[in-house]
Amino acid sequence: MSAYQNLIAGQWAPSATGRTFENRNPADVDDLVGTFPESSADDVAAAVVAARAAQPAWAAMPAPKRGDVLYRAANLLEARADAVAREMTREEGKTLPEAKGEVGRAINILRYYGGEGARLYGRVIPSERDRVFMHTLRTPLGVIGAITPWNFPIAIPAWKSCPALISGNAVVLKPSELAPLCATRLAEILVEAGLPAGVLNVVHGSGEAGSALVAHEQVRAISFTGSEATGSKVADVCGKRRARVQLEMGGKNPTIVLADADLDEAAGIVLNAAFGSTGQRCTATSRAIVERSVADAFSEKLVTKAKAMKVGPGLEAGIDVGPSINAAHADRVVTEVAAAAGAGAQVLAGGTRLTDGALGRGHFVAPTVLGGVTPTMTIAQEEVFGPVAAVLSADDFEHALAIANDVRFGLSATICTRSLSHALQFAQRIEAGLVMVNLPSAGVEYQVAFGGSKASSLGPREQGPEAIDFYTTLKTVYMKY
Ligand code: NDP
Repeated sequence: MSAYQNLIAGQWAPSATGRTFENRNPADVDDLVGTFPESSADDVAAAVVAARAAQPAWAAMPAPKRGDVLYRAANLLEARADAVAREMTREEGKTLPEAKGEVGRAINILRYYGGEGARLYGRVIPSERDRVFMHTLRTPLGVIGAITPWNFPIAIPAWKSCPALISGNAVVLKPSELAPLCATRLAEILVEAGLPAGVLNVVHGSGEAGSALVAHEQVRAISFTGSEATGSKVADVCGKRRARVQLEMGGKNPTIVLADADLDEAAGIVLNAAFGSTGQRCTATSRAIVERSVADAFSEKLVTKAKAMKVGPGLEAGIDVGPSINAAHADRVVTEVAAAAGAGAQVLAGGTRLTDGALGRGHFVAPTVLGGVTPTMTIAQEEVFGPVAAVLSADDFEHALAIANDVRFGLSATICTRSLSHALQFAQRIEAGLVMVNLPSAGVEYQVAFGGSKASSLGPREQGPEAIDFYTTLKTVYMKY
């Protein structure tokens, strides 16, 4: 067991409160991953002071040189990928192959935004006046607050910090208290790669530290990923103090399966998107909306595949589904399934906690398939964030599309079909920021914009080149010569 610390002004130090919290392995609560500082508003304030002091020199460094730091960090993380992935499985629960995939993604993010240092383009715009030269420059905002959840404990800290840093900002990162170790490893690596002291600060703790960061008047922008309830509070505070805000929140992502789809492939796509990472992805499929004529055949295939999944500790070989993040979350998942059954849904697979033998030391839920779900049921409207797929029936493409859009979220959506016409109509008319055709709703790439519509997201897109828009402001320069 180790005692981890905050990173403020280049120094690893405990919280000024002296308080700590424990992080335990969700697959085995006897396994203590570490203790972390329980930080207060004073710790956040110290981190912001450090960030403000460090930011001008960092911004003055040529951007491609800032990129060199990210490239070096990518190489360091690559050398430690296996160790970090194992730590991720211990702190978050996802299977080791899933954790390795996420670490690989963080490496790609570091390299990609390292390269953006040579591409922070402005534009030259023709003036309507004689001998006036007009151009735009991208400039950093100053200090950025990044508040991250537990479900992608290294990728999300990386995809917020890297575009912020390459743009010349300093960052104060508040990771989730449920999975704080990987963010610590990312920070250690960036420091080792040569990031100057104070440019990245990490303040561990709960919502107390998060809300202090959001409220801090010297923090120019907040990038937040997490629940809709917390995101709304963050947006309210930022709105009042005119800070820039970006929110990535929940989803109720549909996969439409039309009668012309390859049903076996469609069941595999839903299986992957619903149960991968234990369903704890904001892009997870939680609704399969299936054309009525093939609904029974599709459900049968999905149920067979779901029942064959191996649930257990993610460090063991051959495990398909790891634990939920904590006991309260696992209990909530099975309570919501029971409520759906009470409302008339049929539990076709799973629906219970798994507690036999060693599984009893973790927070395991069986992969769950619900049939006979109707669009107005709570299970068809609210995010579960667990290994639960609800199967709904639709008369045809138009009906399926109407059901798919009839939720307040709009993050990711899939259609399984062989019809090019339906695929293109779907891309145009589905209310979602991420549109997949014959691909799982989860499993997005780093070099392209990420984000949703409606209650799923607020503000400019994350990832890809568009991420830079949030972390920079444009100056328009007019020069008479
Ligand atoms: P939260 O929204 O509670 O937490 C997200 C982050 O915000 C954490 O770092 C959290 O700190 C911090 N935080 C909590 N309260 C405040 C506050 N008042 N001001 C500023 N920051 C705050 O989400 P959870 O991680 O607890 O997950 C709850 C639910 O959110 C999930 O069940 C799921 O439905 C959804 N979710 C969605 C995600 C997505 O990718 N869209 C990702 C994760 C969760 P801490 O938790 O450490 O106290």
